[in-house]
Amino acid sequence: MALRAGPIVIASHNRGKIREIQDLLGPFGFDVRSAADLGLADPEETGETFAQNAVLKAETACRACRLPALADDSGLAVDALGGAPGIHSARWAGPERDFAQAMRNIEEKLQAAGATTVDKRQAHFVCVLALALPDGKTETFTGTVDGTLVWPPRGEKGFGYDPVFLPDGHERTFGEMSAAEKHGWSPGGPPGLSHRARAFAAFAAACLSPVNA
Ligand code: IMP
Repeated sequence: MALRAGPIVIASHNRGKIREIQDLLGPFGFDVRSAADLGLADPEETGETFAQNAVLKAETACRACRLPALADDSGLAVDALGGAPGIHSARWAGPERDFAQAMRNIEEKLQAAGATTVDKRQAHFVCVLALALPDGKTETFTGTVDGTLVWPPRGEKGFGYDPVFLPDGHERTFGEMSAAEKHGWSPGGPPGLSHRARAFAAFAAACLSPVNA
């Protein structure tokens, strides 16, 4: 479905995500607002999958402001923990959003599971973007990036679990990468590195045209 440049709502209150999606939308000439700017409450995430939660957030924001709404549901899935924290990635950091504690918690569980060698420490960031339009159509786009978890955390950049995630084929964690390195995507270029950039590339290919194209 084609999306014309104009107002669009990012259905999130997470500043890290809003900033990243704003950067990704930059080249397309949208007037980007966030659910936080518009005073919209976040719906309760009752879905059992990333896709269900992304659709729930996008459709709720779209209905509330009658504008196209883009939502992202994302998280870290750790193989040795059966895919946890997965859709509960934000919740593992508690109401204080204490990701240092959440990363320690994962590390303790990995140690308890005997996951001390690289091959047992595989993890994946997953992102599902949902676009909901006022005419009732909704579509989803998925991106993933594979890597391993390091300990101790490395780097101060990014947000959430970035300092423990070492993407395959790289020597620096997401926490040590600039935003440009982490996403590594531009209109017409390769699909990028991060799960969000890859989901965004799929969304852009299906729905967007660069301003100067
Ligand atoms: P959501 O708002 O329910 O989608 O929560 C996603 C959570 O997953 C975030 O709060 C982070 O904990 C984690 N997460 C998602 N994407 C990233 C990322 O790019 N880097 C680090 N952590 C992420």
